[in-house]
Amino acid sequence: MQSRSADERRAELVELYREASACERCPLFETRTKVVFGSGNADADLMFVGEAPGMHEDQQGLPFVGRAGQLLNKLLEEIGLARDDVFITNVLQSRPPGNRDPQPDEIDACRPFLHRKVELIEPRVICTLGNFATKLLTRSQRGITSVHGRPQVHELGGRLLRVYPLFHPAAALRSTKTLEELREDFARLPALLQEPPPVPIGAVAPVAAAATAPAEPETPPTLFD
Ligand code: URA
Repeated sequence: MQSRSADERRAELVELYREASACERCPLFETRTKVVFGSGNADADLMFVGEAPGMHEDQQGLPFVGRAGQLLNKLLEEIGLARDDVFITNVLQSRPPGNRDPQPDEIDACRPFLHRKVELIEPRVICTLGNFATKLLTRSQRGITSVHGRPQVHELGGRLLRVYPLFHPAAALRSTKTLEELREDFARLPALLQEPPPVPIGAVAPVAAAATAPAEPETPPTLFD
């Protein structure tokens, strides 16, 4: 398959954003204020997938802008990253009323959008935040407590990449122990981002090619800020 330039992928992401903004594929369109598509770097190596927009996100149309988002910003800062370096999105693009759990029909309706975002952004690592994102993207029912901090290789958006499950920042706001574990898992992210891309079973790994590759040209500016 012919690979597309970052500009071409970004243009398609903007189209997808337009499509999502008018989405009526599940009943949540009736109660949401704004669609929360996601924000950040359209060519990010690192993507975060949370659960669903909350009240503040619903009002602003941006992901993780409440207290959980402030913690996420802080954890990113501690490992030398800013929000503009990464792309942040959710399993659901519309807020479930009263912040209830996402329902299976809502997850199914939003799933193609999430997969397309992964396909267009081409991240090397996806951090799933909490149980919903983790179970969806690892296609497993294993919960976050047993899988957090352990990278898994999955095929998503037509490419092999690493899924790195993390506790949800909202859970870390409720428990000091969870916050410590989340911080420890975050500390392993810079090294994980340096790993060469996963190779399909049976393929021969290129010798140290990825480790010595020149830095990517500067990424385009933040998509929706
Ligand atoms: N929690 C989430 O899962 N996503 C957000 O965008 C905000 C809070």
